[in-house]
Amino acid sequence: MTKKPFVTKEQLDEIVKTYPTPFHIYDEKGIRENAKALKEAFSWNKGYKEFFAVKATPNPFLMEILKEYGCGTDCSSKTELMLSEACGFGQGEIMFSSNETPASEYIYADKIGGIINLDDITHIPYLEKALGKLPKTLSLRYNPGGVFTIANGIMDNPGDAKYGFTTEQLFEGYRMLKDKGVERFGMHSFLASNTVTNEYYPVLAKLLFETAVKIKEECGVTIDFINLSGGIGIPYRPDQEPNDIRLIGAKVKEVYDEVLVPAGMGDVAIYTELGRFMMGPYGHLVTTAIHEKHTHKEYIGCDACAVNLMRPAMYGAYHHITVAGKEDAPCDHKYDIVGSLCENNDKFAIDRMLPEIEIGDKLIIHDTGAHGFSMGYNYNGKLKSAELLLKEDGSVKLIRRAETPKDYFATFDCFDIFNKLDFEA
Ligand SMILES: *Cc1c(COP(=O)(O)O)cnc(C)c1O
Repeated sequence: MTKKPFVTKEQLDEIVKTYPTPFHIYDEKGIRENAKALKEAFSWNKGYKEFFAVKATPNPFLMEILKEYGCGTDCSSKTELMLSEACGFGQGEIMFSSNETPASEYIYADKIGGIINLDDITHIPYLEKALGKLPKTLSLRYNPGGVFTIANGIMDNPGDAKYGFTTEQLFEGYRMLKDKGVERFGMHSFLASNTVTNEYYPVLAKLLFETAVKIKEECGVTIDFINLSGGIGIPYRPDQEPNDIRLIGAKVKEVYDEVLVPAGMGDVAIYTELGRFMMGPYGHLVTTAIHEKHTHKEYIGCDACAVNLMRPAMYGAYHHITVAGKEDAPCDHKYDIVGSLCENNDKFAIDRMLPEIEIGDKLIIHDTGAHGFSMGYNYNGKLKSAELLLKEDGSVKLIRRAETPKDYFATFDCFDIFNKLDFEA
């Protein structure tokens, strides 16, 4: 498979006249088609709802698009809750799957109608104390421990993950909730990240469904919703086969019919909290080659850096790169594509075969629509880029302006910095 960008060189040449590089650009058409496909894949389940993981791409314009397809939001912090509220998400449309959460954030989540998903058994009394009483609806996050495997190998290592209740704690937790008057119960689990296989959700679903049946039998608690959380991946590499969401939906249904329906639990709602799958492929980071360096290796220096996209530096993650306008040129040059941070891991690609790059070429870094812009930081005093939306009609809309030095220094008002510098200079 070749990976084709959703913008052409001609479009980019036009866009940079108004919005200089670097910037993230998102593809409205792709986002909509994917959201629709997901909704259809789970339409067999009456209560189905996707709660978009805001941390992947916290932009209100994109969240509003997903809202049109019935999505809610999944939040990990107060500011994400605030953003959800600002977009008009309300009662029952916000999941708060946080961890190590301050009391004030639980209070806020409860106030705006969020569903709280607790990460630990000790958080039950903590929440009760914070709110005065427990909410009517509560969800618990399950971590069975050990190693999570599917037919073709190890997926991840939940036994090493800081999240969730153990099996024993989970059963005890539901008993506690029932005793304390909770009326609606949810179960959540996130066992593997970026799974590029159609097996992950069905295997996870089977585990959770069987656990839910046991909880009904042993605790007398009927689970109302099961949250399969995030983890459906995307093909970052050109040789990877994309997930088939319709097949995944159908396979989850099979397990549902096999495990839940015979147990008299045929009205359990399925929730998902996808982030990467919803947005990842529909974002590009566009950057300009501004330097070339011939030393012990061949380097191309660009005007973006790890501040704009941290995944390669943080996880050694692969992001495909297209040189705009050279889509069909032979990849006969080997480069390290690097940013300007004083950190040697600030490399978008290492030993990557690409067409010959000239200064001024636009590089399109693929699959930056999730956990891209949002992971950004301000190291080396670097400013965060703009975010643009390529609309279905081909026009471009600014959905977040680039940071300015004024934004960067905003928290130095205690130093009276705004009277010491000329910000127009
Ligand atoms: C990060 C996260 C998600 C989204 O994960 P993706 O890999 O982007 O799908 C969902 N739920 C929780 C609790 C998360 O922490």
